[in-house]
Amino acid sequence: MNSALLHNGNIVTAAEYNPDVHGSRIYCIDRNCKAPVIHVKSENAAPHFKTTGKNDGQRHNKLCGFYKQLSFEESIQKVEEYQGEFLEKGIKETVIRLNMNRIDPDYESKQIEREENEKTAKDPSEVKVKQESTTPNSIGSLKAIVKLLTTYDPDILASILVSVKGKKIPLSQLVISHDKAHQLVWEDRSIDNLGYFVYGTIEQVLRREKVYFINFKPVGNVSFGLVVFDKYFKHFTYTDEQLLGRKLLAWGSLKKNVYKDKNTTEMVIKSNKYIQFLP
Ligand SMILES: [Zn+2]
Repeated sequence: MNSALLHNGNIVTAAEYNPDVHGSRIYCIDRNCKAPVIHVKSENAAPHFKTTGKNDGQRHNKLCGFYKQLSFEESIQKVEEYQGEFLEKGIKETVIRLNMNRIDPDYESKQIEREENEKTAKDPSEVKVKQESTTPNSIGSLKAIVKLLTTYDPDILASILVSVKGKKIPLSQLVISHDKAHQLVWEDRSIDNLGYFVYGTIEQVLRREKVYFINFKPVGNVSFGLVVFDKYFKHFTYTDEQLLGRKLLAWGSLKKNVYKDKNTTEMVIKSNKYIQFLP
């Protein structure tokens, strides 16, 4: 764990922790857990907090985000739970730049070339190690988002703001379930022209002459689907068998649609790179 809850209700990171200032009563940050933790400082690892695990009251409980390795969905749910509180309490933020231009088949090659040139000086795909954080500085693919959410502890993820098109958005507001995406769109709370990362399970693939519809399994009567237009068929080569029943994360802007008098939400995607299967 990179953060701990103090006796006074504040949250401190392991790098900032000083027993003279913060006191010795420190706890797991998960409100379902609050197990006492200790601060660990050694030569081999970055400073962190851990439970002593000596007896029952000193271990993470089953509902805690640190009890076990979390799946992608469990991880994003915990990040959402922690993130509001963390950011409110002014925890040190980690900003990760997001630029998905590279996966767009329409993105001009000229622009890519220019980026390639910049890349020689600064490689955005390279994972750089900052002073207090080992998370990457920038992300440009769905694979990197999935890796982020399945690699790092939920408290580290809860400190992440994603910088995109001049906005800084908490990670848990950008990576969302499809029913939540639908809610955002129909309550007019989604940010225009901003891509969202949306996850769900594929239930149906309909291939028409001019368009493919890839429909997620409804959650709470919410219908959400991916759309591929014929211009992009050559970039989208997954077969029905590869898609049906699979959990995946998709990236794109959200759009309202009405089908048979029912409000639905759509995401237009252009290639294989716009989806990533979840582990
Ligand atoms: Zn805990």
